[in-house]
Amino acid sequence: MKFFTSKSLLSVLFLTVGILGVNAQTLPKTDADIMQSLEHNLSYLADDHLEGRLIGSRGEKLAYEFIVENFQSLNILAKGEQGYIQTFNLKKIACRNAVFVLENKSGEKRYEKIIPSMNFPIANGMPGKVEDKCVWVGYGIQAPELGINDYATIKSVKGKIVVMRLGHPDFENPHSKLGAYATLDAKVDTAIHMGASGVILINTHEGILEPDFKPIVKAPFKSVPVYFLGRQSGLDSINFVGAKATIQVDTSTIQLEGHNVIGYINNKAANTVVVGAHYDHLGYNELGGSTYRKQQNEKPQIHNGADDNASGTAALLEIAELFQKSPYRNHNYLFIAFSGEEEGLLGSHYFVDHPTINLKQVDYMINMDMVGRIDTVKNSFSISGTGTSPRWDSILPSIQIDQLKVKYDASGTGASDHTSFYNLGIPVLHFFSGNHYDYHKPSDDWELINFKGSLQIIKYIYTLVGKLDKQPKLSFTKTKETTTGKSDFKVTLGIMPDYLYDGKGLKVDGTTDGKPAAVAGLKRSDIIIQLDKYTIGGMEDYMQTLGKLEKGMKTTVKILREGKELVLDITL
Ligand SMILES: [Zn+2]
Repeated sequence: MKFFTSKSLLSVLFLTVGILGVNAQTLPKTDADIMQSLEHNLSYLADDHLEGRLIGSRGEKLAYEFIVENFQSLNILAKGEQGYIQTFNLKKIACRNAVFVLENKSGEKRYEKIIPSMNFPIANGMPGKVEDKCVWVGYGIQAPELGINDYATIKSVKGKIVVMRLGHPDFENPHSKLGAYATLDAKVDTAIHMGASGVILINTHEGILEPDFKPIVKAPFKSVPVYFLGRQSGLDSINFVGAKATIQVDTSTIQLEGHNVIGYINNKAANTVVVGAHYDHLGYNELGGSTYRKQQNEKPQIHNGADDNASGTAALLEIAELFQKSPYRNHNYLFIAFSGEEEGLLGSHYFVDHPTINLKQVDYMINMDMVGRIDTVKNSFSISGTGTSPRWDSILPSIQIDQLKVKYDASGTGASDHTSFYNLGIPVLHFFSGNHYDYHKPSDDWELINFKGSLQIIKYIYTLVGKLDKQPKLSFTKTKETTTGKSDFKVTLGIMPDYLYDGKGLKVDGTTDGKPAAVAGLKRSDIIIQLDKYTIGGMEDYMQTLGKLEKGMKTTVKILREGKELVLDITL
């Protein structure tokens, strides 16, 4: 190698470092100790005793008390609103009562009572009352790609209550192409598009899995009432010939309390790094979200959420300890265990609206959601948000932990709490060890956790934050948004409603670029109080109004912005 000049030798050395990467920084706690306390903390959080840590439940309380105790024993400062805790309210809509009456041709009336395993309103249907003629549409499937249209021979269903069978005729074939067109959602949406004033689903087949009664939902998603009549009701198409039906669904609003846990290391630095993980999960699936197909009459199961997200919570506690003992003193550190993530990122959303530190001084946010199931064969995990700062692309590939492979994803938005920070223009990274069969099922248990994998992710984060310790504040870049979400309305404004807001009107939590609301100039935190000539008192008014408007029409939207009324032109 003597023919190298010293300068080129230096560049070869740099190159070598670039290829091999930087090894993990030495941690102020041994691997064995970290693994042991990960297992201890995670197995407690995911124990049946905590009953799945549903927001507002006794299990949530046990979990946040445990996190508080851990912060206290680490001498992490309290940075919530009541000590470590920050409380927020969640509004839900509960079905209080429902009436279903069927009146046949000769005027005989038949009343169906709510029996949760048999007859009940589908909870995401619109509350209120409809009383109209019935029209039978068979399975109610429209699948133009398959040449099927159950509405083809029907004159009109406008202003009528559409009655259909649950499922599809090929239900015994699990690979049937009809499946996608025959979900409860798809069929109700089709009926609404055809102009139905209400929807009734009946079931006559033993082999078809009937839906569960969900007494509590976030908000109505369908613009008409929907009612289900189970097989045991004995009703079939013949009962609806020439009949009239009444569906009345009464709902009321209930409040649940969620609790974020917030701890702080104050290094008297200019900027702060936020590290977060949600600790709530699905409980007994009271509020939905489970992917587990329950057998008829099976008792509700505890969803322990060991990977989702006791794993991230346990990792958060380890990271808090590491930074308490670390030499990295050029940033402050804020650790947040969020609640309400499973109900739509509620805890992180509340925090960014009610921050306990100055968010302008947040350098970046690191989120961990499901970091306990690194597949030992694939040996990889994913980091998303790499497009949220130009610096990520240059720094991340230089970090190498053991032989772990990393999958990068640029997007700053996703189904976890980093999204709330990204939306405010803060660079984010989200750590995720990959999806698996047990996701949102009662079988997501601590015995399946790969603790060594969690340790590796912790090392990665510690190394990364360490490397950035003496660096200037990161700049932020917006990433391409991938919007999902569908609607059964002809008209959509392209807004995300704020589900925590319980004042008059509809509060906007975010807008989608290019959609009517964004084009009209609506912004986050605006409150819609009138759309066209309709007063908007809340979510239900808003949904009903959307159903009355036509796509393409030009009208106005009246909003409250910082307390002032403002009228904007909008093209729907
Ligand atoms: Zn999660």
